[in-house]
Amino acid sequence: MQAVDIIIKKRDGKELSKEEIYFFIKGFTTGEIPDYQVSAWAMAILLNGMTDREVTDLTIAMARSGKTLDLSSLVKITVDKHSTGGVGDKTSLVVLPIAAACGLPVAKMSGRGLGFSGGTLDKIESIPGFRTNLTPEEIKKQLVDIGLVMAGQSKSLAPADGKLYALRDVTGTVPSIPLIASSIMSKKIASGCQAIVLDVKVGVGAFMKNLPDARKLGNIMTRIGELDDRNVVVVLSDMNQPLGNAIGNTLEVLEAIESLKGRGPSDLMEHCTVISAHMLLVGNVANEFDEARDMVMKSIKNGNAFNKLRDLVQAQGGDVSYIDDPRKFSKAQFIEEIEAYESGYIASLNARLFGEASVMLGAGRKKKDDSIDHAVGIVVHKKIGDQVEKGEILFSVHANDEKILLESKKYLEPAVEIRKKKVNPLPLFYE
Ligand code: URA
Repeated sequence: MQAVDIIIKKRDGKELSKEEIYFFIKGFTTGEIPDYQVSAWAMAILLNGMTDREVTDLTIAMARSGKTLDLSSLVKITVDKHSTGGVGDKTSLVVLPIAAACGLPVAKMSGRGLGFSGGTLDKIESIPGFRTNLTPEEIKKQLVDIGLVMAGQSKSLAPADGKLYALRDVTGTVPSIPLIASSIMSKKIASGCQAIVLDVKVGVGAFMKNLPDARKLGNIMTRIGELDDRNVVVVLSDMNQPLGNAIGNTLEVLEAIESLKGRGPSDLMEHCTVISAHMLLVGNVANEFDEARDMVMKSIKNGNAFNKLRDLVQAQGGDVSYIDDPRKFSKAQFIEEIEAYESGYIASLNARLFGEASVMLGAGRKKKDDSIDHAVGIVVHKKIGDQVEKGEILFSVHANDEKILLESKKYLEPAVEIRKKKVNPLPLFYE
């Protein structure tokens, strides 16, 4: 078998066999198939799609590209949660400590920033010392010790996804249903969780721009989960405007800390409450949605959720003094506030442009090996439907380079639209 023949077959819109998919993923994982061939193959998949059978084979091939964890002898059930990618989406940093504080063991395998969307690993690594490349043994020990783990793909767990993810990020091959579904589900299967809450984002700042595509992605991930005996719950949530206020790694960690103390922005608080409640339900910690909701709110009120974040940071080598005193986090050198150009109602706050501007500022990667600047980003102060007066602050840009600050401000000019007529707020969830 030759890699080039498999690329040509997909380029010509034909269905790949299980053997061809396994050959390709194995060759990529061992390094025998080079990045440039994998990039061409990923583009062929993006353009021509895959059948459900191909997506399932690709998922299992990637899940088995390294070790798979079996956590069933350690805890009764582990639940994971994954978002398909959005802007300002720091949900995992909030809901995982909440779920663990409510007694649900959580072992999460997260990803890095992808295209204009941020990634949990990049965010949490803003905390000095925090390690995400845990070995399977470390994951198991920590799950038993504190009931919460936040790890990344590594050389041992779903390594094919780690490599493909980095390539897709810089080759324009992210927004593909087969590639997103297999990326997410391979990590979930490799990490050994029995139940998964999938937060499928819909809108201009998501990879799925409309509800039919989001449903399609949710359905295929549910089917893959069921084939491998995992209980999957899918919610479709809005990503037309950033979630919460902060965009950018440290800024989002700061907002997550505030949220765990019950002081986060109301949209983020509600979003995280709903996602955590679904986790408690699929994890059999609660029987009814309202009961789960109450447990979530209580864990925030009594400080247990925040303390779980502290435990997590400590267990993974992070400096907890930053969590205790967030003023210690480094700030960007330049912070510039952008004012409303007229009075009215916010009609658009284009999440995609905000995500792209934060990548320009250095919060994400333009090339595979780029390092990221944790301090930079954007904080929005208004949401769609809010009334504003001319001159009120709409958002602030946090930058470490004056020239890029100017460029990103220019880039964001079309991101906000103000209308004279009243505008309704956007829903948080569609389904
Ligand atoms: N999250 C992932 O883990 N993979 C994707 O492809 C998109 C979002």
